[in-house]
Amino acid sequence: MKHAHVVITALLAWSAPAFGRAKDRPRIAVIGSGIGGSSAAFFLRQELGVQAVIDVYEAEPQAGGRLLEFTYLNSTYEAGGSIIYSGNRYMSDLATSMGLTKVEPPKTLWRYGMSLFWLKRTVAKALDKFLTIYALQNEGFTFATPAELWSKIGLNDYVNMTIADHLWSAVGEHTLLERELVYAVNRVNYNQDNDLNALAGLISLVTLVGGDLFKIKEGNAKVAQKLLGVAGARLHFEVTVTGVASTDTQQYKLLAGNESLGEYDAVLIAAPLELAGIAFNIDGATDPPAPQHPFQTTHATFVRGRLRSEYFSVEEGKGMPQTVLLTEDGQGEVFSSIALYERLEDGDGVYKLFSRKPLHTGLLDGLFGAGAWRTLFHRRWSAYPKLQPQHSAAAPPVILYAGHGIFYVNALEATVSAMEVLVIAARNAALLARQWLAADADGADASAAAPSLATEASSSSGGSSGSGSGGGGAVPSLDVQRAPPGGGSDTGADVVMGAADVLVEL
Ligand SMILES: Cc1cc2nc3c(=O)[nH]c(=O)nc-3n(C[C@H](O)[C@H](O)[C@H](O)COP(=O)(O)OP(=O)(O)OC[C@H]3O[C@@H](n4cnc5c(N)ncnc54)[C@H](O)[C@@H]3O)c2cc1C
Repeated sequence: MKHAHVVITALLAWSAPAFGRAKDRPRIAVIGSGIGGSSAAFFLRQELGVQAVIDVYEAEPQAGGRLLEFTYLNSTYEAGGSIIYSGNRYMSDLATSMGLTKVEPPKTLWRYGMSLFWLKRTVAKALDKFLTIYALQNEGFTFATPAELWSKIGLNDYVNMTIADHLWSAVGEHTLLERELVYAVNRVNYNQDNDLNALAGLISLVTLVGGDLFKIKEGNAKVAQKLLGVAGARLHFEVTVTGVASTDTQQYKLLAGNESLGEYDAVLIAAPLELAGIAFNIDGATDPPAPQHPFQTTHATFVRGRLRSEYFSVEEGKGMPQTVLLTEDGQGEVFSSIALYERLEDGDGVYKLFSRKPLHTGLLDGLFGAGAWRTLFHRRWSAYPKLQPQHSAAAPPVILYAGHGIFYVNALEATVSAMEVLVIAARNAALLARQWLAADADGADASAAAPSLATEASSSSGGSSGSGSGGGGAVPSLDVQRAPPGGGSDTGADVVMGAADVLVEL
């Protein structure tokens, strides 16, 4: 799958599967146009063919959601989801196929001896298990709850214990590495301490086992925007969906206040229910448990200036670190990290700061010198759910209502919040929607007679063909045989800092 036109050819050549429930022209609504919603639209088109009507509703004026860039002096900076691991094959292949440019962020250096060796081993072990997702999805595997997925690929233990407990069992002691590196990376990535679940914690460290990081030169949100175009979805921007209600005709009505937006055979929810403000009215069905994963606030602030060495107790002329992360000892600090993103011609730097609260003038004066800095961009994010182990807060189901066609993409985000994970979740939701639509109103599978994908399209998609979960013909698939999870670390760090100490890279 090397070029966008190859994908489009594959999509258009795909003959129509049979839809027991929705007859010949299914109507599907996707709520949200972040990477989850946009890739869901893409996979829906793959699964359902050209005759399906796919409507995407987005509250904001543009697609991308938590992927958002800003431009300063001709450079593009990511204020939300930034870094993609080269092994994230969905994100990597989709970006390439959309004709986007991958560029490399700075590399990371650490200094933790044997502990690092053990950490690498445990990351690699989790990664190997995670990699099996891609082959399973190519074969049409679906999961109705996140727990089903983790159990299928052997990651149950990881999602049910904290990263701190996992490292204790893997390394045997609470090491400097755990207190500094793991704490710092997870604080930057998830604004959470070492009580998050072990899978999310290890995914943050995935680059330890090799592979590069990249971001999209044109802006990561372009992946979402291009996917929507290729999917041929009808886009409805600045429309906030407030309700989903079942109808007498076994469809779902979408509402914006009192206004009906339309009736659909299936609905994919690609926004966190904790934030989306959607009320459900599904006749005769039991509501799923209320969302239990409160979102963490993170402020991303870009500042132009020069860091003062005195603030970090670095001797004048010894060279300032490019990146500073707070360790466990630095919890009193207002910011979680500072990273130099670009050195400008006059010697000023463009720095990205993450913090739990807005940065105040006194702090910025201390960091950069009184009045010697300028805020270029600031965004307050409801960034990620609290990624607890599942035993303390079960993830919500993907099939929100048993026996109904409402699929929750962001259910998987309760365990790990990263672009690649949302694309995996989107593909799962599209496969489930196909199964749902293929069944007739009594639940029997009506897709047995579905015509199969034209051979030419199958080979031009460049991927292996898996059988659709609806039992129909071959489904055009991405070439995603082996790929690691997660977004990699957003740190690119070379120094880890406690409140009073500075550790210099080796
Ligand atoms: C600061 C920050 C840094 C990050 N760094 C990384 C990283 O380096 N690597 C990585 O892989 N991941 C990273 N992430 C996580 C990653 O960005 C997210 O996991 C991912 O983008 C979520 O995508 P999504 O489509 O599920 O949700 P969103 O991007 O939140 O999209 C949901 C969309 O739904 C819309 N919406 C919500 N409610 C409604 C409604 N009722 N009606 C209509 N529309 C609605 C919203 O406006 C939004 O556009 C980071 C996130 C943040 C905030």
